[in-house]
Amino acid sequence: MLFNYAAIGLCTLNKPILNIVIRMFPFLPTQLLDFFIGKIYCGGATPKQVIQTGEDLSKRGINNMMLSLTIEDSEGTKNIDINYIVSETIKSVDTILKPHILKLVESGSHGINDIPPGYIAIKPSAVISNPVNVLLNYKNSEYKEQWNELNNNCAKIIQRVAELNTELAKQYPERRSPFFVAIIDAEKYDLQQGVYQLQRNLYQRFNKADGLVQVVGTIQMYLKDAMDTVKLDEKLAKTHNYRVGLKLVRGAYIHSEPNRGVIHDTKEDTDICYNSGIQYVLKDLAENSENATLGHLVVASHNGKSSRMAADLVTTSTNPVFKSNVVLGQLLGMADDVTYDLIEHQGVKNIIKYVPWGPPLETKDYLLRRLQENGDAVRNDNGWPLVKNVLKVYKNRLFG
Ligand SMILES: Cc1cc2nc3c(=O)[nH]c(=O)nc-3n(C[C@H](O)[C@H](O)[C@H](O)COP(=O)(O)OP(=O)(O)OC[C@H]3O[C@@H](n4cnc5c(N)ncnc54)[C@H](O)[C@@H]3O)c2cc1C
Repeated sequence: MLFNYAAIGLCTLNKPILNIVIRMFPFLPTQLLDFFIGKIYCGGATPKQVIQTGEDLSKRGINNMMLSLTIEDSEGTKNIDINYIVSETIKSVDTILKPHILKLVESGSHGINDIPPGYIAIKPSAVISNPVNVLLNYKNSEYKEQWNELNNNCAKIIQRVAELNTELAKQYPERRSPFFVAIIDAEKYDLQQGVYQLQRNLYQRFNKADGLVQVVGTIQMYLKDAMDTVKLDEKLAKTHNYRVGLKLVRGAYIHSEPNRGVIHDTKEDTDICYNSGIQYVLKDLAENSENATLGHLVVASHNGKSSRMAADLVTTSTNPVFKSNVVLGQLLGMADDVTYDLIEHQGVKNIIKYVPWGPPLETKDYLLRRLQENGDAVRNDNGWPLVKNVLKVYKNRLFG
């Protein structure tokens, strides 16, 4: 693994080197990418490997995962079997997330409300053929059948989540948050209106006003209209009597967004929007506990300031409903310093890692986004400190 970190450090020595690597990316053999960077950012190719990843994370105080079977085909060109993705995703809740959380609960070393839920991520464009057209034309009657199929495919996965929540809630009635949550990932901006509608349909079906939040949607706070979307979601939920769960991210598509005008003009504006989103949701949860419309929050960020701010608000609360329905998350292989700091210095228990898994060939698009994101971190700093630290560890191992 150290060797892999050294490789990432060398790729991100400076912007020009990183840009060359990014341009070469599509032509690099999958085995090479898997060997050098896949091991850092991906949880494995098989459920057995992912279970091991979960155990390794637990040893570091990260007690659950946001699993994503990363078989991507956003352009609809790879002819992927959608039924296979849906059934494997459902299976992964039973074969990975369920044994993982039961092991933690039964170990007795964690408070029942201190274990974060196991999340199952659903990328809308991965669970329907021809996703771009379906999501762009969700109001168009010509696409009604495919739109319904997309909704049904997501619902099949969430139905299993709901069944398992009911089963475990009977065994552990003192738990104040769900054991499992399905989470809808956000995509490129032009697809998002369709994704928002999908999220709303699923909230209405699975997040009853008097029940747990079992589906969480994603809002990209780098969008200028992000807070309007949060408030609209809240209003619709109140009108139609259901609850909303939100994963707040800044947003991963800034590099490929053709209309830059929809994204905040500056990073500072994105930061302000992100932090105010956290405060807005936490206010509702703190004031209304089980009756909060915005009933579950995932602070999905590598930003130390935003994460610390959320952690401060959560760890100082004594309300168990509030506490156990707020989870902080980072991507596997990224921001491990932030994760460590939150656990060791802020006493955060509800912390998870986003763990993509699947065949190496299919995770290529995901890996490219992570490399681009690492490039964002290459500003004044560069990959050299990472290389130096790896060399230091090797030296210590060799010479004691
Ligand atoms: C658990 C988890 C789940 C995620 N799921 C999704 C998802 O479903 N969909 C998705 O899109 N992303 C997702 N992400 C990725 C996430 O969007 C990126 O990791 C995030 O944008 C990086 O920002 P940060 O919060 O870590 O903070 P920082 O590193 O402080 O911020 C970097 C981000 O700020 C924004 N930004 C940078 N420069 C500018 C600028 N000049 N103007 C305006 N904004 C700017 C961009 O969004 C950039 O990514 C997820 C991340 C995590 C941890």
